[in-house]
Amino acid sequence: MPASGLERKISTINTENINLTKDPQHSNGAQKLNQNVRREWNIKPSKISARTHNRIRGIVESLKIKPNPDKPMIPLSIGDPTTFGNLRASDETMLAVQRCIEGGKYNGYAHSQGHEEARRAIAKYSAHQSAEEIKTENILMCSGCSAALEYCILALCDSGQNLLVPRPGFCLYQTLAEGLDIEIRYYDLLPERQWEADLRQLESLIDEKTAALLINNPSNPCGSVFTQKHLEDILDICERNYLPIIADEIYEHLVFPGSKFIAISSLSKNVPVLTCSGTTKRFLVPGWRMGWVIVHDRENRLAQAVVGLKNMCGRILGSNSIVQGALPEMLEKTPKSFFDSVINVLSANARLAYRILKKVRGLNPIMPDGAMYMMVGIDIEHFPAFKSDTQFVQELVNEQSVFCLPGACFECPNFVRIILTVPGDMMKEACMRMALFCEAHFKSDETIIEHGLLD
Ligand SMILES: *Cc1c(COP(=O)(O)O)cnc(C)c1O
Repeated sequence: MPASGLERKISTINTENINLTKDPQHSNGAQKLNQNVRREWNIKPSKISARTHNRIRGIVESLKIKPNPDKPMIPLSIGDPTTFGNLRASDETMLAVQRCIEGGKYNGYAHSQGHEEARRAIAKYSAHQSAEEIKTENILMCSGCSAALEYCILALCDSGQNLLVPRPGFCLYQTLAEGLDIEIRYYDLLPERQWEADLRQLESLIDEKTAALLINNPSNPCGSVFTQKHLEDILDICERNYLPIIADEIYEHLVFPGSKFIAISSLSKNVPVLTCSGTTKRFLVPGWRMGWVIVHDRENRLAQAVVGLKNMCGRILGSNSIVQGALPEMLEKTPKSFFDSVINVLSANARLAYRILKKVRGLNPIMPDGAMYMMVGIDIEHFPAFKSDTQFVQELVNEQSVFCLPGACFECPNFVRIILTVPGDMMKEACMRMALFCEAHFKSDETIIEHGLLD
């Protein structure tokens, strides 16, 4: 099999070479034929690269922050759960990779869709996603969930089409789509309804150029987990409008006691779903870059697009083969007690932060049901010293050395996102400092009016 792949590659290279030599620009008369030939080093970035921006980076770099030197910095902004050392990958997870390296069997390229035995392990691990057996041919292993999402967007959307994404939402969707000149259309998630989508508004965004609907459940940044009823309502809309779904379920199973995660693919009868997940968050190994797409398409509605999706795997010749080799053991042996202990840390932090911040005048934390984050609303009109969530965040760092991500990073003004992955005492300290900060700057309605009169 690898030989035939190689042959195919060689044959494409040869044709390209032949084409090049026939190209008049490459023949001897090139200088005369083409007046626009380059005469100096004036190299511009490609359109795709010039259009590609990471919103969080942009906003964070524009902040003018100088942490208070008297208080140690607490970064409640960092999405990487391994940063603080309190959450570590399980021994079983790490041993699996260690053994795979020692065995020396996984130093070569894998099949571009991934090693068969790794995909078999993912099929078993992901059984909750489908009533039917998941076939390994419908699994594509990728370099992280990010690449899984990129392949899905590339396979389903053309430039000039649009993609529906949640607001507030993870900014990667925008980064990936905008570079490719795919329009992003935001459907709103409603804080007063536990961040359920505003379905009427969502459906009103759909037109003939809408290529797909992207959902993220459990959600970053909201920490919300959709109910079965809500997922069914979303499926109804997609069925009515012939829209495939890209489901970012990287936080699958990461839900707090009392909540239940349901994979949207498990409820879908007719709507094709491309589910993206990986080991990054649940196994606490973001640097390992291991993600995957599972195609759920009972009725074969996406058959042609799936050919395209598989083509995408050829772009980087497959993902990290060491982690692929370790995957069967990792998925099998990492104990439930490990996952439970991670969830305990996250949900204890959520309860602690909620309890403290709920009492603070001007703040409205929204209790999450899963993932690793909490959104906290800011009554910005009660903080006349600050014009926006961004300025609020900036001054919070300067006075209290606590850094949250401003809602602007998620297209969600007047909120901040805090992470729940810090050690408990740090969580408490950070929330107490946020309370102090808000008490110092909060102005009730009367004082705002008084100030107005004095101006
Ligand atoms: C972290 C995250 C990803 C990216 O995961 P990687 O496996 O690190 O690429 C994708 N989607 C969401 C919502 C995330 O929070």
